[in-house]
Amino acid sequence: ETGKNGVCFYTPDINDRLVHYQEITNLLRDALNNDGLELHFQPQIHLAERTSNSCEALIRCFHGQSRAVSPAVFIPVAEKSGLINRIGEWVIEAACKQLSAWQKTPLNNFRVDINLSGRQLTNPHLANHILETVKRYNLQPHQLGVELTENEVFGSDESQTKQLEKLKQAGVHISIDDFGTGYSSLVYLRKLPVSGIKIDRSFLQHAMQNNADMAIMEAMITVGHSLGLSVLVEGVETEEQAQLVTKLGCDLAQGFLYAKPMPAQKMAEFLESF
Ligand code: C2E
Ligand code: CA
Ligand code: CA
Ligand code: CA
Repeated sequence: ETGKNGVCFYTPDINDRLVHYQEITNLLRDALNNDGLELHFQPQIHLAERTSNSCEALIRCFHGQSRAVSPAVFIPVAEKSGLINRIGEWVIEAACKQLSAWQKTPLNNFRVDINLSGRQLTNPHLANHILETVKRYNLQPHQLGVELTENEVFGSDESQTKQLEKLKQAGVHISIDDFGTGYSSLVYLRKLPVSGIKIDRSFLQHAMQNNADMAIMEAMITVGHSLGLSVLVEGVETEEQAQLVTKLGCDLAQGFLYAKPMPAQKMAEFLESF
């Protein structure tokens, strides 16, 4: 893993990790084959209008009666094993299926944003696959959004950018997730066909106590707006934080203060009374 001439010792700790890895992989395979995956949805709130026109889809993996593992744990494993491609396809299908079910409800114009892993974007058919799925469910491309996290896999490959351009051109909303946490956030804005940024919640967490975090957040909002992007802040948990991000001029907010990720039916009910 560490590359040429690397020497490392095999310890019980590595063994634990391998067992863990194998266990999670088996669990995911099982979930894929036996209907064990589910999407939950978290609304994104338009701060000025106090309305919601979009949500983020977050995957959940159930095993028996209990939730098995957090996506923060199993998605990285799936990326390593390659299972991310099957999981990713499942997510695209499930999101479109849900949007289609909403077509005859007040949520007929709602947008669902799915998370894409960099590895999925190396598939040269990804954009076509997404657009075909959207069409098969009689949806418009603007009803779907994709969120990308800047990471090691991302940006090095021209073909990834091509996939994104195809999606953007068709009308799919593209946002950069966890914005500000990578090494090259600003380069991404220049290179990629982006529609919005999602400022990582770590900045908001510290902004009240830390002047640097506050200044960086203000700067990110300014850059986002001067490029004509929508700016969302993630992880709004308190009224105080909501007031701060409103004052700073963010367009959208997402977080436990408004709603936790929840099953589709629950979110529809929540939005009815929001
Ligand atoms: P993310 O895309 O940054 O998603 C936001 C995470 O923050 C979610 O965790 C969400 O439940 C949580 N969150 C939302 N509001 C708040 C808040 O106010 N406070 C706090 N503390 N947390 C909040 P979740 O659902 O456990 O997902 C973790 C990560 O797993 C996601 O981070 C994303 O990177 C990945 N993931 C989830 N679903 C998918 C998927 O379908 N595909 C891919 N490739 N990755 C996914
Ligand atoms: Ca996300
Ligand atoms: Ca995020
Ligand atoms: Ca994240």
